[in-house]
Amino acid sequence: MNDIEKINFLINSCKKDNQRFPHTLIVSEDFSLSEAFALDIASKLGRDLVIVNAAMIRAPGDMAEVVTNRKINDLLLIEDINLFNKECLYYFCEILENFRLNLMIDSGFNARSVVVNLNEFTVIGSIAKVHLMPRKLMSSFFCIIEGKETRKIGAETIYKILNDEFISATKDVSEHIFSLTDSKRVEIKPFLKNLISFCKLSGFQKNDVLTCDTVDEYFNFFGISNFKKEIDSSRQVVIEVQREVWKRDQGKCVICQSQERLEYDHIIPFSKGGSNTVRNIQLLCESCNREKSAKI
Ligand SMILES: [Zn+2]
Repeated sequence: MNDIEKINFLINSCKKDNQRFPHTLIVSEDFSLSEAFALDIASKLGRDLVIVNAAMIRAPGDMAEVVTNRKINDLLLIEDINLFNKECLYYFCEILENFRLNLMIDSGFNARSVVVNLNEFTVIGSIAKVHLMPRKLMSSFFCIIEGKETRKIGAETIYKILNDEFISATKDVSEHIFSLTDSKRVEIKPFLKNLISFCKLSGFQKNDVLTCDTVDEYFNFFGISNFKKEIDSSRQVVIEVQREVWKRDQGKCVICQSQERLEYDHIIPFSKGGSNTVRNIQLLCESCNREKSAKI
């Protein structure tokens, strides 16, 4: 069973018995893939999807806010799931296993713990590399999907969204949109909304067929060249990101574990549209970095 078959199998069985989709981990260096994947499941199951980054959940209170508002069988996509701090990781494991949040309130004499029972929802975790996954968390996930397979899902989602709006799109055009948005780091859903408006503005009729030319035309109109310039000027990795990456990679080269001559490396190179996010940056020693550059 490949990953796509796995997902479809799960979606169909959940639909049939109105069951909760099991916790799933997506391994991909690419942001938009995990999002497309979660969107696809949510839309096929008719559930709500909320997206948060683990680095944003810093304290039990943040965690409570995220998990207590979920409805039964809803989806929660947690990006960079390896970035939970120790305290939050502890709470999160308990939530994944038992859907229970054990909070301490007040302090000193008045300190007491309060157990909050949560609705049973689904966590879709995403992580750049599987070796970054905290061991403790791994067994809480029912299945693991590798990013390369989710590329197809991204294109499928685009195809579906367009056709729902009565814009006929071939698989080829969907693939084209996917690879463009993907390489330019543009979020798919809002982009499609604008693309649909553009089609309507340019006199598109119901069930007209969208071509790659129209897509390119909109990309020009959208001003993707300006967008690119902005990325270039922010090429430098900001301090906060450096700190987070250093912590995650534990001050070691992720390839050879060396602790000397370390450099911040873009996993997907800048020239190929790689971003300055924690997820796309890793620690490499000078020699591993040279070796990687030579291969690219
Ligand atoms: Zn190294």
